[in-house]
Amino acid sequence: MNLLEYRGKEIFARYGLRVPRGKVVTSADELDGAPFPAVLKVQIGTGGRGKAGGVKFAETIDEARALVPQLMALTIKGFKVRKVLVAEKLDIAQEVYVGIVLDRLNRCPVLLATAMGGVEVEDVPPNKMFKAALDPLVGLRPYHLRDMSVFLGFPKDIASQIEGIVETLWKIYRELDGTLIEVNPTAITPKGEVYCGDAKVVIDNDALYRHPEFAQEPEDIPPLEARAKAEGIAFVQLDGDIGVIANGAGLTMATLDMLARFGGKPAIFLDLGGTDDPEKVKACFRLMNEARPSKIFLNIFGGITKCDTVALGVTKVIEEENIKIPLVARIKGRNEAEAREILAAAGIEAETSFEKAAEKVVAIKGV
Ligand code: GDP
Ligand code: MN
Repeated sequence: MNLLEYRGKEIFARYGLRVPRGKVVTSADELDGAPFPAVLKVQIGTGGRGKAGGVKFAETIDEARALVPQLMALTIKGFKVRKVLVAEKLDIAQEVYVGIVLDRLNRCPVLLATAMGGVEVEDVPPNKMFKAALDPLVGLRPYHLRDMSVFLGFPKDIASQIEGIVETLWKIYRELDGTLIEVNPTAITPKGEVYCGDAKVVIDNDALYRHPEFAQEPEDIPPLEARAKAEGIAFVQLDGDIGVIANGAGLTMATLDMLARFGGKPAIFLDLGGTDDPEKVKACFRLMNEARPSKIFLNIFGGITKCDTVALGVTKVIEEENIKIPLVARIKGRNEAEAREILAAAGIEAETSFEKAAEKVVAIKGV
């Protein structure tokens, strides 16, 4: 679970980290008591707000009164703004990035740090990024911090403040079951004070039962995922171009593997689960249509599920929602012949072979 910046900063403050003072508002009427000059930042479940126009500056409360409604009207990467953090504006001489991130490939947390922090951190060349794998049993040791400080090359008083921040981040990472904790910018003021200028905290969803204080807020989850959740559909967004709808977790996973075998990359996958409920089939296709993959792969194996009922749902929703995304269907199992007829009548030719269908969807041109 992705905490909003202001909630991350509340945790930081609780652990004794230096964060700029601030107030969260939902309208210009709530600005009394906010510090000025201020930085106004939209509170949404995604980064890159600076580049997307979600970070503004106000010298006075009057300037902020004009800016708050503008920020509240924004939608960034599908996230509608519901809150704005008005924080003390820092005088920043240099922006540093520090983070502790779970490296799933190497099965351990990694400490990352660069003196080239700020909104362009994704473009930092690898040789400017300090990396230290942290053995989960040994944890963060003083030599990691010394290596980091030598790499970053700051004077001693600043280096020791950054080391202190990293030590605390590690403590938070461990105690709150984090998978990612990032401070970008870790802001160095001209006076040599180091502040946590931003907070990105991601908590392992499987550990949430241990942290009831983090009740999920709607603005933390990407909107399509939130809707899928409300409708009881497993929905995962990836970075390819094929939208996958399959039934059952096992078949869904196998479908992703089969696509990979033919060089295909999934954009989203939806698991219909063990149902042929036409309403759920429709909900799946509506979500898929809004997620805008360039083509759709429907892979149904009917054990208990009746393929013809699924096919009816599919043809209905394609007509009702006027879905134009090319579809390849693979239908196998209970009532498959009837299902094929229903789909054929709607101009969709269904395969029975899993391999053939996967190969076909990878090969066709999408929208
Ligand atoms: P993000 O783009 O979503 O990560 O949002 P950030 O909170 O990191 O802000 C983006 C950028 O705005 C930072 O990298 C800074 O350059 C700038 N910024 C944010 N807060 C302040 C501040 O208090 N003072 C100054 N001078 N710049 C700030
Ligand atoms: Mn940031």
